[in-house]
Amino acid sequence: MEEATYISYDNAIEELRAREYPMLQGTTYLDHAGTTLYSKSLIERFSADMISNLYGNPHSASNASQLTTRRIEDIRLRLLKLFNADPQEFDLVFVANATAGIKLVMDAFREQEQGFWYGYHRDAHTSLIGVREAAAEHQCFASDAEANEWIECQDDGSGRAGLFAYPAQSNMNGRRLPSDWSRRIRTNKQAVYTLLDAAALVSTSPLDLGDAENAPDFTVLSLYKMFGFPDLGALIVRQASASVFDRRRYFGGGTVEMVVCLKEQWHAKKADSLHERLEDGTLPIHSIMALDSAMAVHQELYTSLDQISKHTTFLARMLYEGLSALRHGNDERLCQIYKDPASTYGDAVTQGPIVAFNLRNQYGGWVSNAEVEKLAAIKDFQLRTGGLCNPGGVASSLGLAPWEMRENFSAGQRCGNDNDVIRAKPTGMVRVSFGAMSTLKDVNSFVAFVREFFVQESLPIVTAPITSSVDEPPLQSRLHVESVSVYPIKSCAGFSVPRGHAWEIRREGLAWDREWCLVHQGTGAALSQKRYPKMTLIRPSIDLGKGLLRINLVGALREMTSTHEITVPLSADPRLYADEAVYKSANARVCGDSISAKTYRSSEISLFFTQALGVACHLARFSAVGDGNSSTRHSKAHLQKYQRAGAMQIPGAFPDAVSIRPGACVSKPILLSNESPILTISRSSLNRLNELIKAEGGKAAQAEVFRANIVVAENPAYPPGLEDPYAEDDWRYLQIGQQYFEMLGACRRCQMVCIDQQTAEKNQEPFVTLSKTRRFDGRVFFGEHTCHMPLGEVSSPLGQNPTITVGDAVRPFRDDEVDQNGHLHALVG
Ligand SMILES: *Cc1c(COP(=O)(O)O)cnc(C)c1O
Repeated sequence: MEEATYISYDNAIEELRAREYPMLQGTTYLDHAGTTLYSKSLIERFSADMISNLYGNPHSASNASQLTTRRIEDIRLRLLKLFNADPQEFDLVFVANATAGIKLVMDAFREQEQGFWYGYHRDAHTSLIGVREAAAEHQCFASDAEANEWIECQDDGSGRAGLFAYPAQSNMNGRRLPSDWSRRIRTNKQAVYTLLDAAALVSTSPLDLGDAENAPDFTVLSLYKMFGFPDLGALIVRQASASVFDRRRYFGGGTVEMVVCLKEQWHAKKADSLHERLEDGTLPIHSIMALDSAMAVHQELYTSLDQISKHTTFLARMLYEGLSALRHGNDERLCQIYKDPASTYGDAVTQGPIVAFNLRNQYGGWVSNAEVEKLAAIKDFQLRTGGLCNPGGVASSLGLAPWEMRENFSAGQRCGNDNDVIRAKPTGMVRVSFGAMSTLKDVNSFVAFVREFFVQESLPIVTAPITSSVDEPPLQSRLHVESVSVYPIKSCAGFSVPRGHAWEIRREGLAWDREWCLVHQGTGAALSQKRYPKMTLIRPSIDLGKGLLRINLVGALREMTSTHEITVPLSADPRLYADEAVYKSANARVCGDSISAKTYRSSEISLFFTQALGVACHLARFSAVGDGNSSTRHSKAHLQKYQRAGAMQIPGAFPDAVSIRPGACVSKPILLSNESPILTISRSSLNRLNELIKAEGGKAAQAEVFRANIVVAENPAYPPGLEDPYAEDDWRYLQIGQQYFEMLGACRRCQMVCIDQQTAEKNQEPFVTLSKTRRFDGRVFFGEHTCHMPLGEVSSPLGQNPTITVGDAVRPFRDDEVDQNGHLHALVG
């Protein structure tokens, strides 16, 4: 096709999209391999069908029932025809999804006399791989060459039934596998059947089963991946191979004619057609009706799968070319694209519309996918990262050996977490996939996004750290504590410690900081602002005079409840909590770690939060593990979180430095387990950040979004112009008032900093600017984890009751002010 033809089709889709896909306003959807989207017309047609017809359960004689049965048989035929499958040669079984279709086939093979041999291709989806667990013998083919060799070699003559499964298209990188394997296996291997996983292929490509002799024995697919709706799958079986199911033992309502169960045990199975034998229970009748609307509307909008294939193949080629062309200022390539050597972008026979890749920085190191994901979320790109449900394909593309995958697993790497570059190898990838309603605009905006955030134009210019000169005023009072905040309920608004009030510093952090949390009533997981941004409109405050935690609702939340304030005593009176017996083991989960928290028994309290947030939750209080003696370990949310971050160092923040403070976190393991970090940010750094944001026309960030405990600022009594942004990167210790603190490392940031703490609305800033100016080794940092150092006479008043007060003088100690052993001169001297 001519380039101009592609463009005019693309323009037509752009228009169609505005009409039919209102949900795409303001976002770029690039995860069609996950699911494509349903059109407005489809939903309207389905809804009109439902409203104007009476559909009954198919298994009876009523008119309503007959109508349902008739419709279902028509729709089954229509779907077969979509794949050019002759109903004399094929039957189609409705299943919940492609995976359910695979399992039906697996169950049939499991019943074979000698069990079965199972072979599968490396590029298989997880759902295909799982079949091996039911096989007597199994083999993974690591390449096409291996599969070809096996196909050509002599049948082993064992007589054991075999099943060879492979994807028509890889859901990982879109590579399309040879379509002649079914034919060749049928010719060469007597007892081996073929299972084709067409779930990824048919979402953007035709599948032609016109030649039944050479077609796969079993084909599975997911209809939601083709039409966006309904959530339904199909298993297409070659009639000639249907006898595999003869040994099926189970029967259920719908698949049996008569059952005798008293005295005698006897039943007669349905025998008419395969689908009648396999569709146990009531069919998802309404979903099947919706499928009719889906097929009709799809054809009206796009004419054919062939048309969609041409369009999406073009888009994938444009993306591949666009990403391949990106280079850093030093000419290093940005994108490592996982294209199969046997495939070509632009050729629909070998390559589907998916691009899987990782990004490299200008030194050739990997950019963390969690970072790509966070920025994509901020910029409203919907894409997929991680292991992509394709373990074989991902491992071979990334060069991960099985032992490495095992080790990564032990090191805490799981599908979908932050820990994604281990031993200098990525553990997952980024996947962009297109569908019928994707356009060139999606391609271009994604390439522009990658260019904007990940291309490094030149080596970063490092400003020399400011060194104190003789005539500078003494450091001691140049900085002071501008504000002190605590966050009594995890993820809810902060409480600003009033001026003139000496706030207690405890072993586990500032007093009352993250003492409480909200836990989901179903899962027991602690709620966070990332999922429930409105939590910021819950304002806790500490009333030490009355001994109460006061909780107020502000803004939009005030309309949700009849009361706008509740109070909870600060004293941990055991009678307030739910039955120990019931809740003892009910551990709240924070970031995957188990944390023990006691749930309040009052239904009034639960109702208050449940109504405010619209999610069933309880208020819970973290409990100190132990009995309050010196070995007491607190189990607060931020503590656990920090311990994980503790293993991470911050390379690249300084010229030549491998780490700001190598081993800073390692050197004090006791501190980490016993004492919590306090988060400190600098006003000068925030001002610098906001200057940059405003220069780009963005919305300045308030200090609150960083959820810091301590804001350190230049003393206003000092002449202006002395601001020293990001000086804290260099700080090793802080003296605040008469207390000492150790800086433990920079705080890694995510898109949560974009939630406006007054309105709960999401912005792009400050994350966008932070990621451009404070990203080191693919991670974004702002603020410093800090912990209190209990120094001096423990029995002295200062040692016994350490406090911090707004206005306290702050004196930082840099690395070069600390001796070889890490001791402060000031302290030793
Ligand atoms: C999506 C997909 C599956 C799984 O489909 P479900 O509908 O989730 O069961 C299997 N294989 C491939 C190739 C897929 O793309």
